[in-house]
Amino acid sequence: MRPPTIAILAASVVTLLMPGLDAARAQDKGTLNPQPLPPLANPDDPRLAAKQLFGRKTKPVPLQARAIGFYNRGCLAGAQALPINGQTWQVMRLSRNRNWGHPKLIRLLERLAEKAPKVGWNGLLVGDLSQPRGGPMLTGHASHQIGLDADVWLTPMPDRQLTREEREEMLATNVVRADRRDIDPAAWTPAHIGIIKATAKEPEVERVLVNPAIKKALCRDVKDDRGWLHKVRPVPGHNYHFHIRMRCPAENPDCRPQEPPPNADGCGADLDWWFTDAVLNPKPPAVPPQPRQLTMTDLPPACRQVLVAP
Ligand SMILES: [Zn+2]
Repeated sequence: MRPPTIAILAASVVTLLMPGLDAARAQDKGTLNPQPLPPLANPDDPRLAAKQLFGRKTKPVPLQARAIGFYNRGCLAGAQALPINGQTWQVMRLSRNRNWGHPKLIRLLERLAEKAPKVGWNGLLVGDLSQPRGGPMLTGHASHQIGLDADVWLTPMPDRQLTREEREEMLATNVVRADRRDIDPAAWTPAHIGIIKATAKEPEVERVLVNPAIKKALCRDVKDDRGWLHKVRPVPGHNYHFHIRMRCPAENPDCRPQEPPPNADGCGADLDWWFTDAVLNPKPPAVPPQPRQLTMTDLPPACRQVLVAP
């Protein structure tokens, strides 16, 4: 048995990332005809969920770039859009309008996309970054709120430009075996290791979140140069995409840093814990927990200005 403190720790990690949601959303299809959301009857109601407000913002705030708050409680000023097509990347699910990020995240993705073919990965299929003003989202993701998180599909980019429809309809590759105890050898390739390694080696990347089975494969198959493995952190879900999390930019004092990952490679008992029966097949709770909806008072006060700015 693991000490209960570890279980509690892991449970809080699970809550922080809401990974079940994240994983499901990766496979949610989009639409070619996104409908604008109806206006809110009472947008000043203090009990209103903040996602209802940030989810209605279709344009960024043209201010200096600022990540404000924490990854799962914050917002973003001065967001930039990742262009939907690059030489070696394509943005997926365009109907979601979530290809916005801190300019440092946009630069990072462009740099990574350029490196991708050199590590055997054809190019990036980019999933959700953030909304134009960050903040909580109406669907999926507890994090991705401050423009420093990005999802990249575990499917390499095809050699052609995808149509708008394909970008809404295509499904990402699940690289994890059905029993969730290891990767699926029919889907997993050395190039997967190459792109995850290239990502983790970027100095501004603090964490790469992957399914525990992917972490297990990395622990087993990466032979030398293992100094980046500690950044790759196991979380539930994340079997269709990996999640890139950048550290807070030094010039953004309102960005609240996450504790850096431990220096150890994380390939020992802590990883084994993820494959115990209690974790793989947990008993459903008698009363399913209802995640509390964040309101504006849960976010840093500066997010109010980001929200109301023209
Ligand atoms: Zn994510």
